[in-house]
Amino acid sequence: MTVVTRFAPSPTGFLHIGGARTALFNWLYARHHNGSFLLRIEDTDRKRSTEPAIQAILDGLQWLGLDWDEPPVYQSVRAERHAEVARALLEVDQAYYCYASQEELEEMRQKAKQEGRPMRYDGRWRDRDPSEAPSGVPPVVRLKAPQEGETIIKDEVQGKVRVANEQLDDMVLLRADGSPTYMLSVVVDDHDMGITHVIRGDDHLTNAFRQTQLYRAIGWEPPIFAHIPLIHGPDGAKMSKRHGALGVETYREMGFLPEALRNYLLRLGWAHGDEEVIPTEQAIEWFDLDAVGRSAARFDFAKLTNL
Ligand code: GLU
Repeated sequence: MTVVTRFAPSPTGFLHIGGARTALFNWLYARHHNGSFLLRIEDTDRKRSTEPAIQAILDGLQWLGLDWDEPPVYQSVRAERHAEVARALLEVDQAYYCYASQEELEEMRQKAKQEGRPMRYDGRWRDRDPSEAPSGVPPVVRLKAPQEGETIIKDEVQGKVRVANEQLDDMVLLRADGSPTYMLSVVVDDHDMGITHVIRGDDHLTNAFRQTQLYRAIGWEPPIFAHIPLIHGPDGAKMSKRHGALGVETYREMGFLPEALRNYLLRLGWAHGDEEVIPTEQAIEWFDLDAVGRSAARFDFAKLTNL
């Protein structure tokens, strides 16, 4: 199998060091396996995505030496392809139109809140005849997700993780205005780009279950997932500004060499014996997902400045 990895940032701000580390791991994995490293700009949120943010991400990656092998894919231009896949699912009865009103959804939300559990859409339009549809209410399209059994992911970092399907509801694929949701877009794009390995932060692990359900419904093989622990500060709290600058650009302005930052990012969550400094050629040779730790990586600014 030729390995194809990707970095898929949402261009809503600067290149975050967490994102840069995700990109680095994907890049190293692809280079180690003589595969390809691709870039996808997830600019579907038209209000929050900006041109300067896209530029900052591209510049930051370039500065770090993380080159990509094909022109970047812009997710927003692929909306029609995403909708086409949703329509195909409707045709084979793996998806359905849902006409639940905002009030009905709000009721479900309140009920979930009272019971202290996350909101779950109750599937009320799953098996209903669309001829019962109220007029003038534009429907959303939902996946007919499996209600029994489990969805299991064999994650390269987290091991075997599973969820009972009854805990996941029928996710929305197309919104009432016809636009695709993040869940649909990611699955269709990863498939169409031929991505074999999805390496990303473990804040996406719960999405991976839904994405796996979607792959199965369409009849596509899911990629291999590797969810890497997020970066935390030395105090164990989620990395924030008080632990040090969050933007790659700031380190560049402070005069850090790209090799130093890259080396530091590499060692946030990946180790090779006691090696402190690992030249890039060596990192490419050694890089392996088995050595990615399962606990949160600790960012220590003092250590970075010492390099
Ligand atoms: N665009 C998502 C983010 O920036 C990443 C999606 C993914 O890696 O699947 O968090």
